[in-house]
Amino acid sequence: MSIELPSFRYHPNPIDTGAVVESDGTCQCCGQDRGFMYTGSIYSTADLDDICPWCIADGSASAKFDASFADDYPLIAAGIQMHVVEEVACRTPGYVSWQQDSWLVHCGDACEYHGDASREDICNVSENTKAAWMAEYKLDDEDWHQITDSYTPGGDPAIYKFVCRHCRQILFGWDCS
Ligand SMILES: [Zn+2]
Ligand SMILES: [Zn+2]
Repeated sequence: MSIELPSFRYHPNPIDTGAVVESDGTCQCCGQDRGFMYTGSIYSTADLDDICPWCIADGSASAKFDASFADDYPLIAAGIQMHVVEEVACRTPGYVSWQQDSWLVHCGDACEYHGDASREDICNVSENTKAAWMAEYKLDDEDWHQITDSYTPGGDPAIYKFVCRHCRQILFGWDCS
């Protein structure tokens, strides 16, 4: 059985990141059992647990339940175009973070989300990526070593990998419990 998942410009591999999993559940939006379910954050006044990736992609879950899947504030604050902000917040699978999620931006656009950074990503970090991370979070080299020395993907602290859609620079987001 091969099912074509919808494609998400800002979250290209939601199966790899764990935001979408195989599941038997019934989607609360379309009422169908399509074999895959979204696992990330849902912001809505409705009590939503089971939303399929198709209802995220076509905007129906967002429209029906006034739901979003990422915090739009950091994108608006960064001056990203509103149609992009809406696509990321309302039609893209989000991710689970310790604190409020914060979608990173580069080259005037929202970045692609690629899940938890791997140990390899951390060890091979470029100077540009590290400098951008220190600037974003107002931290220094010592903080970088403290945070990354004991880092394990999916752990606490968490490091999230984003990639610029234009220059392909890797950007790291981070937070902790
Ligand atoms: Zn659905
Ligand atoms: Zn860029």
